[in-house]
Amino acid sequence: MVRQPSQATIAPARLAERAAETVAWRADGPCFTTNPRRKNFSLFNGRTHFTDDTVYTVCVADIIMNGKDYVDAFKDYFRRYPHAGYGKAFKSWAASDDRKSYGSWGNGSGMRVSPVAWAFNTKEEVLSEAEKSACVTHSHPEGIKGAKAIALAVFLARKGFSKGEIKKEVVKETGYDLEVGILDHWDVSCQACVPQALIAFFDSEGFEDAIRRAIFRGGDSDTIAAMTGSIAQAYYGIPKEIMAEVFSRLPEDLAAITEEFTKKYVDSSFIRPEPIDHSWRSVFKWLIR
Ligand SMILES: [Mg+2]
Repeated sequence: MVRQPSQATIAPARLAERAAETVAWRADGPCFTTNPRRKNFSLFNGRTHFTDDTVYTVCVADIIMNGKDYVDAFKDYFRRYPHAGYGKAFKSWAASDDRKSYGSWGNGSGMRVSPVAWAFNTKEEVLSEAEKSACVTHSHPEGIKGAKAIALAVFLARKGFSKGEIKKEVVKETGYDLEVGILDHWDVSCQACVPQALIAFFDSEGFEDAIRRAIFRGGDSDTIAAMTGSIAQAYYGIPKEIMAEVFSRLPEDLAAITEEFTKKYVDSSFIRPEPIDHSWRSVFKWLIR
């Protein structure tokens, strides 16, 4: 049976990240030791903020929507957000004048690819643009495969396919083993992280549950949850309260691109949620109401 396409709203990575940051807060470096290995943790707190996964998902949305050049835009977004938690290799490429790919197999190609799946309307176009978006920096076959896997899963989810059908297609396209256990070591490769992100989605019972499962699986939590979240958004949609928390934490330029992209490719009636006031004054008002 084919599901109805979801009422999903915003390009995905950012809310997944927010959740991941809560437990795996870090600027750079291993965070698996802070993963709770449980699912009942607080999704948002005062330290929750966006990271590189958000910056580059919005960047890809901007590139597609406004016909920008991938290399120019990747370097521009790095200059705007130089401390968002990038890996060393990406950082040195982005800060240099080098325009050639450094052949990465890291999970960065999968974490930023989801806008491709919303903006293109056939499987062939989605896979081709996913490869193009990966090859800018992640031209290793594993880097390309990771981007294709996430883009294909998001595309099929937004087209209303069942989890069984999505899984079959992704395995056919990539050959990933989706029966592996949770991560017990730090690993930022596509080959380790993308299967984890897919499994978290396939096992989930809702958007928030998918995010919690992604974090529970360990490793590079903000990125794994960003990838899981991008598929879960297309399949389930995003709860309003989570979206409001996310928009409250985005700077205006990233929020504006997200809103514009969502209106154009996801839901023409989309309106950005009112930011949540986290100040003490608002808490006091609520108490005396
Ligand atoms: Mg990460």
